[in-house]
Amino acid sequence: MQRSKRQFGFETRMLHAGHVPDAVTGARAVPIYQTTSYVFDNTDYAAQLFELKQYGNIYTRINNPTTAVFEERIASLENGTGAVATASGMAAQFTALMTLLEPGDEIVASTHLYGGTVTQFTHTFKKLSVKVHFVDPTRIEHWEQAITPKARALYGETIGNPQGSLLDIESLAELAHAHRIPLVVDNTFATPYLCRPIDFGADIVIHSATKFIGGHGNSIAGVIVESGKFDYSHFNTIAAPSPSYHDLKFYETFGHYGFLMKARAETLRDTGAALSPFNAFLLIQGLETLSVRMDRHVDNARAIAAFLYGHPRVEWVAYAGLPDSPYHTLAQKYTPKGPGAVFTFGLKADNPRRAGQQFIEALHLFSHLANVGDVRSLVIHPASTTHQQLSDEELRQAGVGPGMIRLSIGLETTGDLLWDLEQALAAIE
Ligand SMILES: *Cc1c(COP(=O)(O)O)cnc(C)c1O
Repeated sequence: MQRSKRQFGFETRMLHAGHVPDAVTGARAVPIYQTTSYVFDNTDYAAQLFELKQYGNIYTRINNPTTAVFEERIASLENGTGAVATASGMAAQFTALMTLLEPGDEIVASTHLYGGTVTQFTHTFKKLSVKVHFVDPTRIEHWEQAITPKARALYGETIGNPQGSLLDIESLAELAHAHRIPLVVDNTFATPYLCRPIDFGADIVIHSATKFIGGHGNSIAGVIVESGKFDYSHFNTIAAPSPSYHDLKFYETFGHYGFLMKARAETLRDTGAALSPFNAFLLIQGLETLSVRMDRHVDNARAIAAFLYGHPRVEWVAYAGLPDSPYHTLAQKYTPKGPGAVFTFGLKADNPRRAGQQFIEALHLFSHLANVGDVRSLVIHPASTTHQQLSDEELRQAGVGPGMIRLSIGLETTGDLLWDLEQALAAIE
């Protein structure tokens, strides 16, 4: 393929970014380089690689040619300068934040986060002497009040759950930059097709690629993207000489790529949460159909949200695609193609906890499991699963009503999904 100056569209980059056909074999699909290590051309070259004077493959814990295609493709789709893939979404957030933070530092985070993220921030970060202030993401003044001189990042999700809230990325980026700290956004529920946080001022984007990016419910993975625009010159961790890399100054040496180089060469090297090349291959397959799948996920989600909204057994539906959602205006700004395909709704029943169980038991097509972003439709009833030890009062405090159901809408025939929901709602006593 000839090089050209043309700025290619999103779909073209989904298929081509980061890869040209293999020069030796002509293989058109991205080959799986299932290898741990790489033969060095000579001893000088080996020394240069280890000094980071030359960029090349050393060991698959740090880099791999199949994983590199996935990283470059995601960076291109998110309008970032580069990306580092990790073994899971949890590892992506951990790697990104451990690269930025030192003991004694603080971050300010939204309360509308994935449950595992709250646990990681609250308990594991505490062991590392990092304090996390949780704030209501819809109140910009709460974010501002929580920023102390020790704050080193703001953290939120583009589409938060279970409330289905939209993060006001542009306002938060302005606030973060006024305090000379980066905004980190978990873009898992939106994917780069529905929202590109970097275009609105976010500095670091992370994903659980396990969800819509892989898209088929077959691999756990994560990825970190850097905008390349944040000035880290006053950040101790990125700018000061690094004792774990013979006093290398990452920001001075690598500039707009400094954060990612440190994330890869130090944090990933030391924590070991590398992605396997085979999983990188599966994620590349997922990315190749991302726009097609997301349009269809959104179409189905809109139809189902509208159906549930009008159903007499349903009390409320929290989907920002509905006109009366408090997040509808923000959704039109940040996710004009639709606010994803994961949302919650509440059952109207005398005993909502039992009604939730009866509803789930009666479903045929929706799979009852703890995941989102699969091609298949998924359902979970938090009150009888993830939150089952809590009393009704404790559930209310956690924002999880006893009759709350979470759906992740898949790509099945729309009428079949509506049929399944209708008959399961009718099965509630
Ligand atoms: C699933 C998820 C994570 C964690 O990712 P894993 O790949 O399961 O480690 C983080 N954030 C969000 C929004 C998620 O949905």
